[in-house]
Order: sequence, then structure tokens, then C-alpha cells
Amino acid sequence: MRLEGIHHVTCITGDAPGNVDFYVRVLGLRMVKKTVNQDDPGVYHLFYADERGSAGSDLTFFEYPGARRGRPGAGMVHSIAWRVGSEDALDFWAERLGAEGVATEREGRTLRFADPEGLDLELLVSEDPDPPLVAEAPDIPAELALQGFAGVRAYAADPDASAALLGDALGFEHQGDSTWQRRGSERGSFYVYDTPPPERGMQGAGTVHHVAWASPMDELEDWRPRVLAAGAQATPVIDRFYFRSVYFREPSGVLFELATLGPGFAVDEPAEQMGEGLALPPFLEPRRAEIERALTPLPESPRARSRGA
Ligand code: ZN
Repeated sequence: MRLEGIHHVTCITGDAPGNVDFYVRVLGLRMVKKTVNQDDPGVYHLFYADERGSAGSDLTFFEYPGARRGRPGAGMVHSIAWRVGSEDALDFWAERLGAEGVATEREGRTLRFADPEGLDLELLVSEDPDPPLVAEAPDIPAELALQGFAGVRAYAADPDASAALLGDALGFEHQGDSTWQRRGSERGSFYVYDTPPPERGMQGAGTVHHVAWASPMDELEDWRPRVLAAGAQATPVIDRFYFRSVYFREPSGVLFELATLGPGFAVDEPAEQMGEGLALPPFLEPRRAEIERALTPLPESPRARSRGA
């Protein structure tokens, strides 16, 4: 049984228009799905990824309009890292982010910065063989673009408590200290624990809600009993329409999801137009007019604009 590294990372924004502007216009990701929170359809669930909406590149945000800033603490992911292809890419991003007024910090082969709501992000030059997952953006050369996730960093007071679940149940490889890696046949991601700050974490704008790991389509059902046997409270398999998921909290408190590699975001829209209109799962389609009226207007997709849509 394999997990192909990170499937997606889901975060919280209090400012959906600003969020779209930063991740699409500034970072050059493609909005691959504009939908609503299936458990709370009055607010958006926005998905940014590479050109094809691939697992491994998919950053998603629940919108809570006007939500207060949160702060990461023990049991939360506090930083998200993407791969880039070269140190030239780090130079490019330092300059591009600087021109947007975003402070960056270069340390060796990494560049750190934060999104407009304080979420810590990192680009790192990777030697890993993972195929690059790149979105097309008019003003970002493909060889300098973000290439999909390298991994995430979480805060844990007692990371040893997670060792059995990560290592024995989920097949993560322990690389020493608080560093883990989960690699499949094509992709892998790191999962690193840092010492938490003394203050309690607070979920809110600019924080990570959960991290999902990528399961082959026919293996998700087999992961669930392993997770249960390791003592975590796994949900039943939930059909998220674009993928199927199982959720549980790992012993350090971080909310994990295992999500299938398909069917993917082209299941309800042509691949070319993914993310342009509001996509609703079939059970919400009858409520479309009411849902659309309640949502925050977003900046128009550059793709839709270029086609005059
Ligand atoms: Zn998720």
C-alpha cells in the first residue's frame, strides 16, 4: 500500500478576493475549482493547483468571511513548502514578492515568506525526482514556477507520540529527529515537527486546517482499518465528489486526511474551464441560485477574461 506524499493542504481565509489575488496572480497557481464548503455551503471552498489540478499541488481554502487571524500552535501545521527547480527560481520569487511588498527571507536553498493573512510559506530547491506540477501563468516562466508541495511543518509538544501511527500504520519513513518522509512510487513529501510556541494555537484566518495524503483509488478502504488499529478515530469513507476521504487526528493533534488520487477536478467541468464557474456537487445543485447570491464576489479568472467569457 502506498501514499504518494501530500494530496492537498487545506487552510482558512477570511478574505477570499485577497486570497485569489495572492495565490493566482502573485504565486501563479491555477484556480482549478471554485466550489462551496460541502458542510457549510454559504461559503467558498477554493482550490489552487497546477494546470491539471493534480494531487500534490493542490492548496485549498475554506472561506470564513471576515474571520479573525488565527495562530498556529501545538497540533497544527504551521508552514507549507513548495519545490522549485533552481536557485534562479528563488531569486525570481524574492524579486517578484518584494515588488508586491511581501517580505522574504533567504536562507541557503530556501525562501520564506507569508501570505497576506500571515500563513507561513516556503520555497525550496529540491533534488527530489518528483515530476514538476506547474501551472501556466503569463508572467512566470515555467522553469521558475512552483512545482508542487515539498512538505509541511507542524508543531508538536511530544512528537514521539506520533511515531507508531506515522511509521507502523502509515508507512512514513523516519529520517531522524522529528523528520518524516512519505514517498510513493512517483511523489513524496516531508512531514517535520517543530517545538511549539508557548501560546495555544487558534484556528482562524491564515492557519492550516488539515493536510491530506494521497492514496491510490483502490487502497483507501484498506488504510482505514490500519488507522483504527493504531488507535486513531478514523471517519468512515466520505465521498467528496472530486475524491474520497478518511479523516482522523494523528496523536500529535494534527488533522490528517487520506484522499484518493481521483476522480479529480475534471469530473464536472471541461479541464480547460476548471475553476471559472461555481461548481456544485449534485446534492447542492438545486440550491444554486440561493448559494450564488450569498457568496462573496471574486476577481474574474484571467483565463475567462482572455476568452472574453
Ligand atoms: Zn481535505
